[in-house]
Amino acid sequence: MSGRIHLSPPDVGQLEESYLIRALRSGWVAPTGPEVDAFEQELAARTGTTHAVAVNSGTAGLHLALLAIGAGPGDVVIVPTLTFVATANAVRYTGAEPVFVDCEPETGNLDVTLLADLLDRLGAAGERVVAVLPVDLFGTCADYTALAPLCAAAGVPLIEDAAEALGATHQGRPAGSFGQVGVLSFNGNKIITTSGGGMLVSDDADLLARCRYLSTQARQPVIHYEHTEVGYNYRLSNLLAALGRAQLRRLDGMIARRRLLRDRYAKLFAAFPGVRLLGDGDPGTNCWLTAIVVDPEQTGWPAAELAEHLARSDIETRPVWKPMHRQPAFAGARAALTGTADRLFARGLVLPSGSALTEPQVERVFGAVEGFVHQR
Ligand SMILES: *Cc1c(COP(=O)(O)O)cnc(C)c1O
Repeated sequence: MSGRIHLSPPDVGQLEESYLIRALRSGWVAPTGPEVDAFEQELAARTGTTHAVAVNSGTAGLHLALLAIGAGPGDVVIVPTLTFVATANAVRYTGAEPVFVDCEPETGNLDVTLLADLLDRLGAAGERVVAVLPVDLFGTCADYTALAPLCAAAGVPLIEDAAEALGATHQGRPAGSFGQVGVLSFNGNKIITTSGGGMLVSDDADLLARCRYLSTQARQPVIHYEHTEVGYNYRLSNLLAALGRAQLRRLDGMIARRRLLRDRYAKLFAAFPGVRLLGDGDPGTNCWLTAIVVDPEQTGWPAAELAEHLARSDIETRPVWKPMHRQPAFAGARAALTGTADRLFARGLVLPSGSALTEPQVERVFGAVEGFVHQR
């Protein structure tokens, strides 16, 4: 035993240290500067988009994207129920109403059939649906092959919550690039981190100019601090952008490391009927978090029992996100449900997936998991 093993600890080292010190010594210790500019360009390139705006969290990015699309009181934004609360919170910040949609069992991503039906019904009722906001759950892209034409046909903009999906692809195309605008997160547990941060990416220069303007207190381009509307203080620090640039250089290596873990989990559980990997078989996943889904009728044990076993070895696991329609903060929100998200919440378990896990830690995790499944 040598300390607690976490799901996805930050993976930082020498390169990050040198980038950070270089930025500090450059004198640009502000939410503006050459590191921010370069980080934006590099992120746009990496996501196959032409423009990017760095912000101080993914949540701030979602808020700005929704504002720029025009979301406000009286509007509806369609959000998957199986997500981290930030997706739904950002909708509420604008005064718009999140309407939740259930997910597909294989990936936990937005159920496209249900969405089609909901768009029809809301459209027929004359409701103003201003955006569909799919999430790339745990780093596996939503089904944009079906989603993009569906949203286009309904005339509803698509905003991609790619907070968990930097480096992932769908049909060879990078996560972040599928909507009118995409949002990434660099929170401490994400695939790359700036300790806290986010990025808006898009091919729409005007839309991102609007986001940039709102992120800097909606300041008019004059010297005397003129403001014609209320803005926000959402810019990313130049120091943290430097950290992000170092992380981005290591992204492919970190994905490869997470993929090794995921492949090893897949191999281990392939021998156990009743256990599958969420999003299994998608070659484009960035492997941010590997979650298993346990059918206790087949295995004879529920996911919670494996979680308890691992906790006794000081190994962290988590349930998959508690669905938004179950959250007291969103009690009374409308939702189109099939029961899938509830089932994944009951049966899912997120396993240690971080690229910073050392070899001995990895052996400890697999030793403990194998010990449990063989003994059961
Ligand atoms: C992490 C996350 C966010 C928010 O990002 P922060 O940088 O933590 O604000 C939004 N949506 C999803 C799906 C996330 O996982």
